Amino acid sequence: MLNAQKIRKDFPILSREVNGKPLVYLDNAATSQTPQQVIEVIVDYYSSYNANIHRGVHFLSQEATDKYEQARQKIQRHFNASKAKEIIFTSGTTHGINLVANGFSSLLQKGDEILVSAMEHHSNIVPWQMLAERTGAILKVIPMNEQGELMMNEYRNLLSSNTKLVFCNHVSNALGTINPIATIIDEAHKVGAAVLIDGAQAAPHIKADVQALNVDFYTVSAHKMCGPTGVGVLYGKEEWLNKLPPYQGGGEMIAEVTFEKTTYADLPHKFEAGTPNICGGIAFGAALDYLNSIGFSEMEAYEHELLDYATNKLLEIEGLKIYGTAQEKTSVISFNIEGVHPYDIGTILDKLGIAVRTGHHCAQPIMDFYKIPGTVRASFSFYNTKEEVDILVEGVKRAKNMLL
Ligand SMILES: *Cc1c(COP(=O)(O)O)cnc(C)c1O
Repeated sequence: MLNAQKIRKDFPILSREVNGKPLVYLDNAATSQTPQQVIEVIVDYYSSYNANIHRGVHFLSQEATDKYEQARQKIQRHFNASKAKEIIFTSGTTHGINLVANGFSSLLQKGDEILVSAMEHHSNIVPWQMLAERTGAILKVIPMNEQGELMMNEYRNLLSSNTKLVFCNHVSNALGTINPIATIIDEAHKVGAAVLIDGAQAAPHIKADVQALNVDFYTVSAHKMCGPTGVGVLYGKEEWLNKLPPYQGGGEMIAEVTFEKTTYADLPHKFEAGTPNICGGIAFGAALDYLNSIGFSEMEAYEHELLDYATNKLLEIEGLKIYGTAQEKTSVISFNIEGVHPYDIGTILDKLGIAVRTGHHCAQPIMDFYKIPGTVRASFSFYNTKEEVDILVEGVKRAKNMLL
C-alpha cells in the first residue's frame, strides 16, 4: 500500500499553513502540487543549461534540445504512442483542443455533425462551437443521466454517416465520472468519425494507452499531473496530424520560407511554432517519472479508498447531496448542502485552511442539468490522507451550523 505520509514529504507546499491552520489541499482537480523531484529539475534547467532548442550549434542548446526530446520520448512511452512525432507539445489541454478544432475548419462542411458530451469542461465545448460557426457543422449533445453517466444508447442513436467528430472527456472534472471511452471510440469509428478525448482529468489517475484505445487525439495538461503550468501535450495519430493544417505560424514550424511560399516542417514541429516552454516540457517528463515511481495502480487503489471513506463520511451530514454518483469515478466529490450557497461553504473552509473549489467548475451545462448554481468540489490526490478527510468533514459540519 502506498505510504501517503512518506510521499507528503516530497511536497514542500503541503507543510505550509494557511490562515493559521495546516493546509489541507483538496483542489487537485484544478491543479496538483509539485514534488521536490520536479522542482529540482526546474531549478537545474535554469541553473545549468537554459538555452533555446533545435537552433544552436552550441553546447547548451544541444543539451537543452536533447533533454527536451528525451521528455517527449518519456511522454510517448507513458501513453504508449507508437511514434515520438505523434506527441505535440502544447501549453495545455485547452491549447491542444483548439489546435484540433482549428485544423478541422478545413475538413468540415455545412451539415456535417460533431458530437459533444453533456459533461464537458468549457474548453472542450467552446472551440467546437466556434468551429461549428465557421463551417456550418451541427453540434449535437450526448445526454447524461441523473447519476452523471453518459447515456450510451442515445449516443449510438446520434451517430450516423454525417458524424465527423466526437469529443468527450475521459474523466469529468466536475463529477469525477470515468466515461467508457473505449466504447465511445469504437462506436464512432464504425461510422467513420474521428475522436478527441480530453484526458486532462484522467491523466493524473489513469494511464491511458492510446494505441490500445485506438484514439485519434488525446490531450493532457502537465499541471494536473504534478508538473508545471503552461505545458501539456496533444497526442494525435500521425495520419490525422498530417491531414490537419498548422495552427500557428512562426519559427520552428517551417521547412522553407520565401515571400512567395512557405513549406512546413515535419511532425511534430509543424505544430510547434515559436520557442516552447522548454523547461516545462522537461519538467513534465520528470513529473511522469515521479508518478510512475509511485505507480498508477497503487495511486488508483489508494485514491479509491479515500473516495469511499470521504463519500460515506460526508453523506452522514444531513441535507448534503453529492452530484456525480457514477459507478466508475475518480476521487472527486461535488456536493451541496440544502439551503446553503456553495461559495459560503468554500469561504468558511478556507478560513480553516481547507482548499476546495466552489462554482461551476468550468462546466456550466452540468450545473444547468442539475439546476444548481454550482457545487463545492473536494478532489483528492494520492498525497491526501484520511485525517484530511476528517478535517474536511468537520469543517463542512461547522460551516453548515454557521450558515443554517
Ligand atoms: C483542467 C481541465 C481542462 C483544461 O485544462 P487547462 O490546463 O486549463 O488547459 C479541460 N478539461 C478538463 C476535463 C479539465 O479537468
